[in-house]
Amino acid sequence: MYEQITENVQRILEMIHRIRPGETVKLMAVTKTRTREEALIALQAGAHLLGENKVQEALNKFSEKPPAPLHMIGHLQTNKVKYAIDLFDAIDSIDSERIADALNRRLKTPMPVMLEINAGKEPSKTGMFFEDVQHFLAKAEQWKNLRFIGMMALFPAAADKSSDEKKKIRDLMKETGELWRIAQQEGFPWAPLTELSMGMSEDYEWALETGTTMIRLGTAIFGPRPKT
Ligand SMILES: *Cc1c(COP(=O)(O)O)cnc(C)c1O
Repeated sequence: MYEQITENVQRILEMIHRIRPGETVKLMAVTKTRTREEALIALQAGAHLLGENKVQEALNKFSEKPPAPLHMIGHLQTNKVKYAIDLFDAIDSIDSERIADALNRRLKTPMPVMLEINAGKEPSKTGMFFEDVQHFLAKAEQWKNLRFIGMMALFPAAADKSSDEKKKIRDLMKETGELWRIAQQEGFPWAPLTELSMGMSEDYEWALETGTTMIRLGTAIFGPRPKT
């Protein structure tokens, strides 16, 4: 287990370096269904931060703080907000005014958050659509305790797709990058938007080619997730 994870992380870091020489692209190890021990191996091998998509699972695993930033990347329910604030260093899945309100109300000091984007407008996924972003960011000034450090984008699954559909995903990634740059240029003090989190195990190579600053990998680091 130790060697496999270490080797995978090193191979991914090399690919980052090859496609984006001289730039910093962060590798997030997505540790859902994985143990704390596996997470720590990935960090030791060079992953920069951790991502979890369920509050309860993350509480069980990381009640003792891990030695790297821990991000929430799954849908956050308002009744879990109070736990999420103590546990996570950032919430990357802000997808509604409702959750922004709930977080803002509970927080005592500003917390880094990201807008979640449903790039393919898939009904099965959470996240806002491209056309909602400008309006949402303009309103975000009211949430004094939220600091929008970036965008996390979700894309249609890439595995087993035809080359036509794969091209569509790449185009969506490019479009997301453009949207991100435009939003950055608004220069809202509450939304520096330095991060663009896109790319998972099936499609991170394309995300690297289209300008991501953070890739979120589970399977590519730890192997296939056990079926529950
Ligand atoms: C599970 C998950 C990932 C990682 O998925 P892999 O395909 O295993 O790399 C990335 N982002 C989110 C939001 C996830 O829930």
